[in-house]
Amino acid sequence: MHIEVVTLFPEMIRDGLRYGVVARALQRGIVSLGCEDPRAHVHDVHRTVDDRPFGGGPGMVLKPEPMAAAIAAAHGRAVAASGTRGEAVRVPRIYLSAQGERFEQRHAAELAGQAAFVLVAGRYEGLDERVIETCIDREISLGDFVLSGGEVAALAVIDAVTRLLPGVLGDERSAQQESFATGLLDWPHYTRPVDFSGLAVPAVLQGGHHAEIRRWRLKQAVGRTWLRRPDLIVKGGLPAEASRLLDEFLAEREVKENDELNPRN
Ligand code: SAM
Repeated sequence: MHIEVVTLFPEMIRDGLRYGVVARALQRGIVSLGCEDPRAHVHDVHRTVDDRPFGGGPGMVLKPEPMAAAIAAAHGRAVAASGTRGEAVRVPRIYLSAQGERFEQRHAAELAGQAAFVLVAGRYEGLDERVIETCIDREISLGDFVLSGGEVAALAVIDAVTRLLPGVLGDERSAQQESFATGLLDWPHYTRPVDFSGLAVPAVLQGGHHAEIRRWRLKQAVGRTWLRRPDLIVKGGLPAEASRLLDEFLAEREVKENDELNPRN
């Protein structure tokens, strides 16, 4: 996979990818990265990439010409790397934007199937609208908050996508079992020691009974999804076994809460 990032701060992207599984994926050539700085496409002495907004008001807007030229250069490299010979639709140009579609695991999975894509990081008040209209295929948001630039969002997208690529994680099952992969949040994890801070690792996990462990984990996953993100269950529904385990989880929780309220019972 080849990823291009259009950014005024290429070092921020390169530095941000120097750690952990993503760094290893880059070193091993599972994913390659290019950065295009719009400042390379301006020729005035101050290398100006922003200008005042028409209509007045605070903030500056990224000038359209250098942004369009940088996106075109990055896209050209991405198309060449992908081997799709100019089928632009297969190499999407994605603007990281607070106004975009909310980025979710399913988008990461979808992008992991691409041979290449271009991420465009904005700064100041963002891109000139005409650049969005003519040079951008889709907009992705990290969430309902405003960042000062798209670089942090680009790093998040690259990380989420890269770890789904074959060969990146030590054990392929990790990505399949994580939060959202199954429509549920992940179950709780424990490692040694068995006792920590007066709390013991649940006995079932110490027992080595695989079917019981699987059942316990599914019950915890469905239970905590119900408590923390019921919207995921409402949206995706539950298969019969998970639904039964949710009833069990809630019944056990009620008993535990009653015991805590009435310790002498
Ligand atoms: N004027 C814009 C607005 O109100 O929607 C905010 C511009 S923001 C200060 C500068 C840049 O940060 C944007 O162009 C975008 O690339 C990035 N950005 C801000 N919030 C983001 C978010 N929630 N997700 C992805 N990118 C974001």
